[in-house]
This record gives sequence, structure tokens and C-alpha cells, in this order.
Amino acid sequence: MPIRHLPDYLVNQIAAGEVVERPSAAVKELVENSLDAHATRIEVNLREGGKSQIQVIDNGQGMTRQDLESCIERHATSKLPQDDLSTIAFMGFRGEALPSIGSVSRLSIATVQSGQEAWEIGVDGGKKRDVKPSAIKTGTQVDVRDLFYATPARLKFLKTDQAEYAACKDVLQRLAMANPGVAFRLTHNGQQSFHYTVTSNDPAEQRRNRLRDVLGEEFIQNALEIHAVRNTLALSGYASLPTYSRNTSQHEYLFVNGRTVRDKLLLGALKAAYADVLPSGRYPVCVLFLDLPPEDVDVNVHPAKAEVRFLESGAVRSLIVNGIRHALLAGAAKTSSTLGSDTLERFSANANQPAFSYRPPISSGGSAMLAERVMNAYQPFPETQPSARPMDAVIAEHADYPLGAAVAHIHENYIIAQTAQGFIIVDQHAAHERLVYEKFKQQLNASPVPSQGLLVPAIVSLDDVAANRLLAQSAQLESLGLRIEAFGAGAVAVQAVPALLAGRADPVKLIADIADELAEHGQTQGLEERLNAVLSRMACHGSVRSGRKLSQEEMNALLRQMEATPLSGQCNHGRPTYVQLSLKDIESLFGRR
Ligand code: ADP
Ligand code: MG
Repeated sequence: MPIRHLPDYLVNQIAAGEVVERPSAAVKELVENSLDAHATRIEVNLREGGKSQIQVIDNGQGMTRQDLESCIERHATSKLPQDDLSTIAFMGFRGEALPSIGSVSRLSIATVQSGQEAWEIGVDGGKKRDVKPSAIKTGTQVDVRDLFYATPARLKFLKTDQAEYAACKDVLQRLAMANPGVAFRLTHNGQQSFHYTVTSNDPAEQRRNRLRDVLGEEFIQNALEIHAVRNTLALSGYASLPTYSRNTSQHEYLFVNGRTVRDKLLLGALKAAYADVLPSGRYPVCVLFLDLPPEDVDVNVHPAKAEVRFLESGAVRSLIVNGIRHALLAGAAKTSSTLGSDTLERFSANANQPAFSYRPPISSGGSAMLAERVMNAYQPFPETQPSARPMDAVIAEHADYPLGAAVAHIHENYIIAQTAQGFIIVDQHAAHERLVYEKFKQQLNASPVPSQGLLVPAIVSLDDVAANRLLAQSAQLESLGLRIEAFGAGAVAVQAVPALLAGRADPVKLIADIADELAEHGQTQGLEERLNAVLSRMACHGSVRSGRKLSQEEMNALLRQMEATPLSGQCNHGRPTYVQLSLKDIESLFGRR
């Protein structure tokens, strides 16, 4: 058959498959057009998840009659005035959104430029209607009805109204976060979904307010502000404390030069930044803006512009990793601020459900027993211990430290410490795990980690894949103080373990755990991250198990060590190592405030 040029409407329909594969993609294109037209107010009205109607109303600069006629032509754009793809200053540039949408829906566009006449044009499944006068007063109003009615095959792939609506909302929220100086309103089937206004002229305050509107006050309270600059690269935004994490990466909002992206390189960098403080499967909540000269980034990789390419990807990655790590270190001792109020809520909830029900004493023996039970549950530091000094003296000595003075050890794992502002409860196992891990890392930086040989090698049987995976890393494991050798098919012999773990960790469990770690991350992480992940697993094996009773000196020593240790607010799995209640909280618990 002869080669022929495809008719325009077909070319547009093919392009539509890429550019506007679902309603949310159309919303994105239309709202980006409004932003490019310098709108300060944008309203989006959806019906049935955007399937039956998407209406975008803006107060931007509008179009002339002539521009209105050409805007629905393929590859017609006002946004590449120099024909230069290397410096893209607008959200759009391909000139394919409007013709694509027009080829698969019933599209109408009304527009006016200030002081001029208003015009309207329509396209039905690719067929243009004539321009006619319109009554619109400002900006541009785009109306998309029956998206994909002209391409039933595509229509079939749309999800439920609710799912399509959710995707539209997500797209609009991302655009709203990146453009905090613009007011956004969304409705669905006539009901308002959100209305984000602009109440300040200060860009930093606008951003903070917008993020509070979109992600909630709790996020702002639990996030660290990020600011990092290197040469022409700048990173800014907010990233959550490790104690405020989620189980999906959905709440990692990334923007490059104001465009929302889901880029593998950036997501990977974020993961590396949190590798020390979040277990796998937990993700931070963050909104990060990367800004760099347009010529150093290619946004023309993907029709929906979700992926980008950086000229210097190494520099981008290290800016993100280091920028976030620095902020985490600076805010290290801080744990999630809502933990205090969570505790408070739990305390308040318990007030309605007493831990024991009061019965009047039958005899004096009864109340003595009760008193004894209470004393057993609450075990103050035993005063009979030979080295024990009077409690008051010890409290006075430690009272001014941030984590205060240990006053009791309860349930064989929790240290109660009195601080200047109130009291804290420390999870001794979690805290110690972090201390061991950080010590490991220090040792690793200084030299190979000191190791201690086993008198009798421990033989660990695994499956052959796991054994080979471990043996392939044996040089690295040795630098961490763990020496292993092959021992027949599917088994390894452990010759030496890190000195920090000697006598503490069960080599068989340790090896099984490390094998799991390598299986999970071995292929994807860089060497440093892999070593740290293995160290983190090891630290868990070497830390004081809950259940061991600590003396008062040991408790205070642990608190002082925590203060001197980076990131001691969380254990290696991102759980808090302590919670605190301020005197203010305590007073309000008792209705004193
Ligand atoms: P692109 O945005 O890539 O240029 P589009 O097909 O999305 O391609 O839009 C074509 C042109 O229509 C734009 O370049 C712009 O000049 C004009 N246009 C589209 N939407 C608007 C709007 N809301 N306000 C003003 N002009 C618009
Ligand atoms: Mg566009």
C-alpha cells in the first residue's frame, strides 16, 4: 500500500493518547496554559471525574481573535519566541494540548484581552466551528465536554469517577503548591472541593500558607525547612521529620523549576537522604523545589513532562542528599511534635477507662496489698544500691541537660527522666539501637570496624541464592568487621563478628538478617547506603534488649550519650526514641489550665 500523510484529526488523536491520556492530564495542560497567561485566579469545575466536563476559568491575559483561531492548530504556540528548545521559560511549549483535546472531545474556548472584544471558538471531535462573539468579561474560559467521546477505545480505559476526580485533584494541588501566589478553586459535580486563597505578599509566607492549606497544619509542625544552594542549583521547601512518615511515596512532592515531576533520580536521592532514619517501606512527606538554569535541565523527555534530565545529575543528587541530611541533623533531637499531643490524647482517653476499678478496702490488709501492687508497677530507682546517691542530688546534677535526670526505670524498658520543662519517657532499646549504629558509623569512617574472631566458626545454612549474595559482598562485610567464608553449597561460615556485637548478637540471626537486607536493597543502592543499611541491621542486634534493668548511672549515661549522638530522636527504624510531656501538658491533663 502506498505511503500517505495521515489526516490532521488522526494525528491529533494519536497525540491526544499521549498528551491527555486521562482527565487529570487535560486539567494539567489547561491550568498550565492559565498560569502561562499570568492568571492570578484559576477555577476548575469538573463533572463526573472530568469525563463529562472540565471547565477552566482564568483571569489571565487572554488571546486576540487571531490567536484564538490558531491556538487549536497543531504545533501552534506563543511560547517559543526564539525557536529555542534549550531555554524553556513557560509550562507549555509543544503547542499540542488544545488541538489534541479538541480532536477527542467537544471543546470550546472563550477569551478576551483587556479593552478588546471577546471571542469564542469550538472544535467537535476535530471539526472546527467558526469564531463568534462572546460575552466573557476577563481572561479565558475553556470548556471540555465528553472527553474521548470521539475515541471510544480510550474511553474504556478511564477509571471510576471518584478515581479520575482524585487524580484531577492531585494534579491541581501540585500546581497550587508550586504557584502559591495564585488562588485556586476546585469543584466537583457542583460541590466545592477546595479554595486556596492568597493572603500575603511575601513569597516565603505564601508558600508556607499554601502548604498548610494543602497538606495541613500538622505537616508544617512536623517538617523541617530545607534550604541548600550549590553554585547555580538551589533546593528549598519542607521535609518531614522521620517520625512523621507514611507508607507510600505518594506524599513526596517534587518540583523542578516549578514543574511537578516524578523523577527516578530525585526519588532515589530522597530515599538515600532518609536511609539512616527510615526503614524501607516508610516514606517522608515532603515538598521540595529544585531550581536551576533552564539550560541545565531537559524537560522535553516526556510528553507529560513528568520526567526530566539533568546535565549534572551527580550534583543534583548530592545537593538533595546533603541538604536534607543537614536539616535532619540540625533538627536531630527533635521528634515529631504531635507525639506530645498524641501522648496527651492517650492519657486523656485512659482517664475515662481507669487501669483498675476501685473497691473499698475490706480490711487494712487489702489496702496494703494494693499499695504493694502499685509500688511494683512503678519501680523507682532502688535506694539500697551501694553506689546510689540521694535522688535529689542526682536530679540536681542532671536537671539542666535537655533530656534531664533519670528518676525511674519502669517495665524494664522505659526510663522516666525529669526535665526542666516536664518529663520524658525514653524507649531504652530504641535509643540504644541508635547509639550503637552511630558508633558503628564512626568506627567505619575511622578505619575498618574492629572485629573479634569466633573460637568456633558459626555455620549458617541459607538457600544458595542468599549465600551467594552474601559471599559476593564478603569484602565489604569484612570492612564492617564481619568475616564470612563459603561453607559448601548454600551455607556460610562466620569467622569473626564486629567487636561491638561480640557476645551480644546471635551470628545465625545476624547473617539471616543481613541476607534479607541485601536481597531487599543489594541491587539498587550505592555502596555507602548498602553499608549503612547493613550497619543498621547489625545495630539492632547489638543494642540493649528491652528487659535489661539499668542502674541510675547507666540511665543517666544513656541520656547524656543520646544528647551527644546525631539523630538520637529516632531509632534506625524511624520510631521515636523518646516522647515528652511538658508541664503545660501535664497541667492541662489535670484541668489546671
Ligand atoms: P502550548 O501551551 O504548548 O503553547 P497549547 O495547545 O496548550 O500549547 O496552547 C496553544 C496556545 O494557546 C498557547 O501557546 C497560548 O498562546 C494560547 N493559550 C492557551 N490557553 C490559554 C489561556 N488560558 N490564556 C491565554 N492564552 C492561551
Ligand atoms: Mg499548553
